[in-house]
Amino acid sequence: MPQFDLIVVGGGSGGVRAARIAASHGARVALVEEYRLGGTCVIRGCVPKKLMVYASRFAQEFEEAAGYGWTVGQTHFDWATLKVRRDAEVARLESIYRSNLVASGVQLFDGRASLVDRNTVALTDGRTLQSTHILIATGATPTRATSIKGHELSIDSNGFFDLQALPKRVVVQGAGYIALELACVLQRLGASVRVVVRGEQILRGFDYDVRVHLTHELKESGLLFEFGRNVTGIVQTADGLQVDLDNGETVAADCVLRALGRVPNTQGLGLEALGIALDGQGAIPVDDFSQTAIHNIHAVGDVTNRVNLTPMAIREGHAFADTLFGGTPRRVDHTLVPTAVFTTPELGVVGLTEEAALQQHPRLDVYRTSFRPMKATLSGHTGRMLLKLLVDRDTDRVLGFHGVGPDTGEMAQLIGVALQLKATKSALDATLAVHPTAAEELVTMRSPTVRHAL
Ligand code: FAD
Ligand code: NDP
Repeated sequence: MPQFDLIVVGGGSGGVRAARIAASHGARVALVEEYRLGGTCVIRGCVPKKLMVYASRFAQEFEEAAGYGWTVGQTHFDWATLKVRRDAEVARLESIYRSNLVASGVQLFDGRASLVDRNTVALTDGRTLQSTHILIATGATPTRATSIKGHELSIDSNGFFDLQALPKRVVVQGAGYIALELACVLQRLGASVRVVVRGEQILRGFDYDVRVHLTHELKESGLLFEFGRNVTGIVQTADGLQVDLDNGETVAADCVLRALGRVPNTQGLGLEALGIALDGQGAIPVDDFSQTAIHNIHAVGDVTNRVNLTPMAIREGHAFADTLFGGTPRRVDHTLVPTAVFTTPELGVVGLTEEAALQQHPRLDVYRTSFRPMKATLSGHTGRMLLKLLVDRDTDRVLGFHGVGPDTGEMAQLIGVALQLKATKSALDATLAVHPTAAEELVTMRSPTVRHAL
């Protein structure tokens, strides 16, 4: 009889949740982690990133305070202080992850794991573990685009968290979540930041209107953009780094941050030898219950490249454990996904984009409002918010929410509940406003601004 009912490979969002829930259902569980418990989200993703976002937003608060009668003395930001405090918080969370796993009865193994056969996992120190089931939850890692000259002079998001000081001049390549979030953090902490985007717009896949609005706001706040450009090389000079662009221009920088997507961590796991073919991106194909081509090997989270967000990895891990050990088969819905991009201003989204909604619901009503938040009336800040709802005229169902501005991530979470409950526009209209808030616009937009296929 194998030692374990389940071996989880990877102690990040998905793996930790699966291990704890499986153990709570009575399974004998082992978890193997090669780096630090908590995974990307806790150690070098969501959590330290959001702390940096908070840090970066104070500068504007200090500026805006003057309009409200405050005199703010000389301000000074110290990167080293923030880094020490941030890293201590990450270490605190990591130790909580460890103690929670131990308290749940999960046996922990430090080291890198690979699969020897369908039931056997080998650790780097030579030990082997046997189990009836194996869960791969190894996450993803930053894409290393090594084709350009001098790529080794650049950093990725992992390197961002290791920076010992705030670089003065930064070139960011990419226009996805990570590139834009980190660009805003660096710029608002005082760096001059130039974002190099290969396409003509940021945030591919997001609502077009929102992409345009956010680009405008980011430009207004001082972020510099080079659209339709690629980085062709990076050269060390006496003055720092020289970044070569494909139009022949060069940009001087102290730091080049490349955020070009992430690749699933499947290398060296031994999956293909067992008969699990990876997809074109190196991800593990799974069915609705996160089962791979081999019935006792499963995979959740970023390594499956479905929806690469922490709450989804957690949901997949939980559903997997309930299905296998809790006697409750559970599928995960990957369609209605509230999400936020923590730029400043931030972007909150749930449901379909206008472009996607139109494909399925041509008789679409768009409710859209753009306004200066009330706080700006006295502070003088010029930024505008955008709030947008998409409604199917035939059924009155609200299909999507898109917002740019303060707290729109928080709004996306709550309006996400309404969309989950299949809310109609009439139900939003019947909801009393909370006054004065920005979110009240969501229940007071009376007339569509665009009526498609009328
Ligand atoms: P991970 O959390 O990556 O965990 C995988 C674990 O497996 C790691 O600890 C790794 O060390 C370990 N491992 C890998 N290979 C092996 C092996 N062979 N043996 C043993 N251990 C192994 N998502 C959000 O929802 N909100 C955010 O704000 C957000 N911000 C982000 C910011 C950044 C900079 C990044 C990079 C990501 C962010 N994400 C965010 C995405 C989120 O972090 C991931 O979707 C989530 O962590 C995926 O969880 P996971 O369990 O699949 O993998
Ligand atoms: P994304 O896939 O979001 O963005 C990658 C960016 O890099 C795109 O702008 C893409 O351009 C560009 N790119 C890709 N290859 C090249 C290349 N060879 N040359 C130039 N540009 C290139 O990946 P990220 O790394 O930003 O983030 C990974 C994932 O992590 C996210 O998709 C998200 O799931 C998760 N995440 C979530 C966060 C949150 O919830 N707030 C925060 C951070 C990460 P193009 O559009 O043209 O393809």
